[in-house]
Amino acid sequence: MSVSNENSTPVHEGGCLCGEVRFRIAGTPVSTTICHCTNCQRNTGSAFSVNVIFHKPEEYTIQGTPAIYDDAGDTGNIVRRVFCGKCGTPIESRSVFSASEYTVIKSGSFDDPTVFAPDSEVYCVTAMPWWLKGIDVPRYERFNTASISAEEDAAAKAAAAK
Ligand SMILES: [Zn+2]
Repeated sequence: MSVSNENSTPVHEGGCLCGEVRFRIAGTPVSTTICHCTNCQRNTGSAFSVNVIFHKPEEYTIQGTPAIYDDAGDTGNIVRRVFCGKCGTPIESRSVFSASEYTVIKSGSFDDPTVFAPDSEVYCVTAMPWWLKGIDVPRYERFNTASISAEEDAAAKAAAAK
């Protein structure tokens, strides 16, 4: 949910998939950045992460006890990855070096991530080549049921041929 507090500072809430970890942050992000570093790729199990960066947020509170993994960035500084130990949702990647200054939240963990549009991309050196090239693929509102049933058909025919 995105609302405003009495000082009309935007307040954003979010949490993990299972609901064990919830957070609330008040402030306007200084940047929303797509990160293509290989650690973000592995951490998210995806092609990149979308990081919403707040500078000294007016308020930042976490409910529940998230798990922590101290990762090493390529500069040698510790990047503290905060996630739900139960369902694994990445919540935050915190540079311990600048922990007091910046709070970096993974966009997908917000209740309403649509309000954070990326303004830049970093670590493009390890970005997926297909991303840099631009993707032009069919888009479906939900499942691509045609391809799923085609696969199922093929599997059924293969099984029947045995
Ligand atoms: Zn969880």
